[in-house]
Amino acid sequence: MRDKLLQLEKAAFEEVASVKGKEAVLELKNKYLGRKGELAALTKELGKFPPEERPIIGELINRIRGSIEERIQSLLTALLQNEREEKLKAEKIDVTLPGRYIPLGKRHPVTQVMDEVIRIFSGMGFEIAEGPEVETDYYNFEALNMPKDHPARDMQDTFYISADALLRTHTSPVQIRVMKEQKPPLRVIAPGKVYRRDSDVTHTPMFHQVEGFMVDEAITFGDLKGVLSAFLHSLFREDMAIRFRPSFFPFTEPSAEVDIQCVMCSGKGCRVCKGSGWLEILGAGMIHPMVFKAVEYDAEKFTGFAFGLGIERIAMLKFGIDDIRLFFENDVRFLKQF
Ligand SMILES: [Zn+2]
Repeated sequence: MRDKLLQLEKAAFEEVASVKGKEAVLELKNKYLGRKGELAALTKELGKFPPEERPIIGELINRIRGSIEERIQSLLTALLQNEREEKLKAEKIDVTLPGRYIPLGKRHPVTQVMDEVIRIFSGMGFEIAEGPEVETDYYNFEALNMPKDHPARDMQDTFYISADALLRTHTSPVQIRVMKEQKPPLRVIAPGKVYRRDSDVTHTPMFHQVEGFMVDEAITFGDLKGVLSAFLHSLFREDMAIRFRPSFFPFTEPSAEVDIQCVMCSGKGCRVCKGSGWLEILGAGMIHPMVFKAVEYDAEKFTGFAFGLGIERIAMLKFGIDDIRLFFENDVRFLKQF
């Protein structure tokens, strides 16, 4: 038995000395020291010996196990060290290589203007509300004082989904939704996408609007002028000339169209303002009593104003862009100018 064990140790040492590669070393470890390895096989024979000899042989087995293990372990450590050095050599950084250019993204000009409009109204205490883009006829028209067959419906080329469902043509239905849920005082803006069957240099089938309204006791047209003037001065220039012209919308009475002095020619008259020196910028008015009736507000007690503006139109004027469709072509050469 003793000879068998010493022979095994010798054979193991010889193999360890000539083995190459991590895989082979692990295999060797298994061959001698594994649970079904050669040393384990000899250990099983221990039972055949008389009890007084077993401790001596057991001790020898342990010594041999230890010495084989030690040699294999130091071999593995050396291999690992080698591997690491090879890897470091391969990964050496060449600091003279030119850097890689990562293009920086920017916010879309429409988003920039939208954020600016929201920032200004938030500063005046307006809260933000949102509503669905697929609306019912009731919220988009009926509750806004445009019953069926009302001629004003023709002004808005509507995308109908069914007789009753449509893509909202303005963000005004959010006004109805908010007023039905909340009671005055209200100061709310509703930004979002709207849809109309229209496409040319100043119209796209989808564009962005911000609807805003303020309702309380004793809100006057003076409040409307004050809020919208403050907004436009903040958005364009402090000394920007503004004018209010009488207009018509079914959901406001009286209604006004708000113009700013042409930003291209400073009022001298040019192609953009068609020689008038003025640019139409938003529509507004005092909320119609019929609208209050639809949301069950007491029109004797409450008054309010509402306004709506197109974000793309403002972006075109702010950035001097003459074709609205450029906003939606996703041409990076165009977008990175802003
Ligand atoms: Zn002009």
